[in-house]
Amino acid sequence: MKFMNELIEQAFIRLFPNEKLNYNVKTTFSKKFSPYNANVKKIGSNLVFNLSHEWKTVNEEIRIGLIQELMLKILRKKAKTTNIDLYNNFIKNLHLSAQKTQPDEQLSEIFNKINSKYFHNSIERPNLKWNLNSRRRLATYDYHTDTINVSTLFKNADEELIAYLLYHEMLHKKLKFNNNSGRAIHHSKQFRELENMFENQKQIEKRLNSFIRKKEPLPIQKFGIIRKLFKH
Ligand SMILES: [Zn+2]
Repeated sequence: MKFMNELIEQAFIRLFPNEKLNYNVKTTFSKKFSPYNANVKKIGSNLVFNLSHEWKTVNEEIRIGLIQELMLKILRKKAKTTNIDLYNNFIKNLHLSAQKTQPDEQLSEIFNKINSKYFHNSIERPNLKWNLNSRRRLATYDYHTDTINVSTLFKNADEELIAYLLYHEMLHKKLKFNNNSGRAIHHSKQFRELENMFENQKQIEKRLNSFIRKKEPLPIQKFGIIRKLFKH
């Protein structure tokens, strides 16, 4: 794919005008990825960029930003560029065009209550699903598909616990993320301040922890945001 290689070259030159990229680059487009996911791997002297097929038709300047963000991660460097800003804004706005599916009824009801109580109904409803796959995370918000996934562990849990999980993920949808030289910050100070405003938050955290301990003896990561650029 010559065309993508040219973009990768551009991405590198704009990041490091005085350096030489000491890798061969390759790109693959895959339909196996979830929408707008991508990663990069170092294999010997090759940098292999794997992109979900949606990226094929995305504007070049935005694609350069994606490649730059992946490059910074794999080369363990920090930098700010206009292209990275473009890329991050693109991701932050994907919810506007994401396909909407019929939301789960139980989650939808709780979502509406939280939206009215804490957000003046200002959060546009995302896709709401019980996540069947993940046993490591309680809930996630996926920026790419505008989806809140809640772990099925909570299907029969108290509504208050589910509400708290939804509230956390709704804050992600509201606040999005800040990008600091190539590193995304999801749980900012502002995020934590708003999180603390949930009614009886301290008590619910305790109940949540004991609920998890009963259900899941293995260590569990509490919340997650699916925006992986590359997987280890
Ligand atoms: Zn979170």
